[in-house]
Amino acid sequence: MLDRLPKTLEPTLLAQQQAVFEGHVSLEELTRLADILLVDGDCRSVQARLEFAREGRLNVVKVQITGHLSLKCQSCLEMITYPIQTQSHLAIVCEAAEISYLPDSYEPLLLEAELLVVNELIEEELLLAIPDFPRHENECRSYFGDQLRCSNLVESNRPFSVLAELKKTIGD
Ligand SMILES: [Zn+2]
Repeated sequence: MLDRLPKTLEPTLLAQQQAVFEGHVSLEELTRLADILLVDGDCRSVQARLEFAREGRLNVVKVQITGHLSLKCQSCLEMITYPIQTQSHLAIVCEAAEISYLPDSYEPLLLEAELLVVNELIEEELLLAIPDFPRHENECRSYFGDQLRCSNLVESNRPFSVLAELKKTIGD
């Protein structure tokens, strides 16, 4: 079992130390995802790896998240088990103005305070990785369609079989 990640991290210091953190993040703590996650879903946490480094004059963090999310299908409200595998290369910037100077290979991580709130970072990464309106691809509709067809079939077959039995009896 992996450790839980720290709640906050000091990225400037950690970049100098080339620190690496790996652990699980509990999904119920990610409040911004509350509307799209199924409360009683099967998936309760994701694994995350944060790798800090100095690259040139930049403090950077590589973020990897793997696992599954129990998303709420926006059509039928049932569960979708959605696989997550994200990988981002973020450069830490302290002011929005710095973003335009970043090389294209980095995405900006705007940090207004000294500490990085780990859950906020994970929330952001997950929100980017999942669809805006998660839904089953045809499956939920056809699932209910099949159920409906099956029960109709049973109901409508019964009178005929009774009739067939009757005919047999009369015929004899
Ligand atoms: Zn569905």
